[in-house]
Amino acid sequence: MARHSGLGLNNRHRSSQPTSLPRRLLSALLLTTTTTLLTTTPAGVHAYTPLSTCSLQHLPSGPPSDFDIHPGSGSDSLLAPILIPRVPGTEGSRLVQQHFVDFFSSQLPDWTLEWQNSTSTTPATGSQLIPFSNLILRRDPPWAKAGTKKEGNVKRLTLAAHYDSLYRPEGFIGAVDSAAPCAILMQVARAVDGALGRRWEGVMARKQKEEEGGGLGLGLEDEEFGEEEEKGVQIVLFDGEEAWVRWTNTDSTYGSRALAEAWESSPYEASSTHSNRLESISLLVLLDLLGAENPRIPSYFWDTHGAYGDLAKIEARLRELGVLETAPASPFLPDSGKPYNRFTRGYIQDDHVPFMERGVKVLHIIPTPFPPVWHTMDDDGEHLDLPTVRDWAKIMTAFVAEWMDLDGVLSEEGCVVGEEKGSGSMEKDEL
Ligand SMILES: [Zn+2]
Repeated sequence: MARHSGLGLNNRHRSSQPTSLPRRLLSALLLTTTTTLLTTTPAGVHAYTPLSTCSLQHLPSGPPSDFDIHPGSGSDSLLAPILIPRVPGTEGSRLVQQHFVDFFSSQLPDWTLEWQNSTSTTPATGSQLIPFSNLILRRDPPWAKAGTKKEGNVKRLTLAAHYDSLYRPEGFIGAVDSAAPCAILMQVARAVDGALGRRWEGVMARKQKEEEGGGLGLGLEDEEFGEEEEKGVQIVLFDGEEAWVRWTNTDSTYGSRALAEAWESSPYEASSTHSNRLESISLLVLLDLLGAENPRIPSYFWDTHGAYGDLAKIEARLRELGVLETAPASPFLPDSGKPYNRFTRGYIQDDHVPFMERGVKVLHIIPTPFPPVWHTMDDDGEHLDLPTVRDWAKIMTAFVAEWMDLDGVLSEEGCVVGEEKGSGSMEKDEL
């Protein structure tokens, strides 16, 4: 990653911002959106139930070795194999790709694995075509089979990070940028995998029961599970985020630019709910520069401030319950109360931009200021703050679980939906 952009640089990206509207309309809009924010749920989600206290206390995570920074013999670290230079088109990049494939195919076989490839020249490599390969890991409801109309009905929570590393300085690792975010997403996928299966099995069992009972369920087509059930989750590991010489619109975000374009021009069947894969993204959550201590993540975008608030609430509840290891003076996500008039048109250049320009809703999880090690040789495993890395994995796991309605199926210890309702909702109010 990435660079800060001033207001002026990005005017063209945000021409649809309500700030260009007449003042009166603007205040009306402000009132409406404020009310909406308080009473409804994040974009793309219809029923949003906070996880119970029990679910948060029994949040699935992973063994301590997940974030080991040294590859030991027989080590099963998710992170260590990514802590090598991984410039696109090099052997290091290939090894890291293989690590992702090995992990998902051996531990998460229900996730569909897909590559999206492109090539480009770069200002550093002359006429040579450099390959850029994005990896997409997807888990949809089992009734929304790939290649069918139902595939195009699924709205996917999309979590992303880039796995490539800087071309120069030679030997640059990029632990926060973005090996750690990739490893965090791997742990999140594994943490919610079992619960997704249990939830969808439950839905299918209910449907079957209805059908057997006759009457109510009679004649229901699969799509009549209701929109509520058509939620999937996918992880995108971007290649080629980094600039090779100097960050420009063409020397940066090679992988994400190619993917946004490809998905925009991949139509679903005409009868599907969504016209293409880009439109099927409910929210793009982009993680970048995470793993240094005391991160401060602003809320960058008004239109996803609701989702930011949900994430911040999760952090606060996890801290209150003593689930997190870190105890920073200020929370990682301090901006829940940010008023509408404090949102500006400035944002940080990163892999979300090609998607945002095409109308995709974005939650950008990147600290401001950047970690001190950013784009230096100190951005390596030794400079990571592992309690912070592990806390991010827990916060993101809870966010995905909440978004995917996994309360009640999240832990195998068996938290019951509605359990300790009284105390749970009281805590929620207090926070
Ligand atoms: Zn970078």
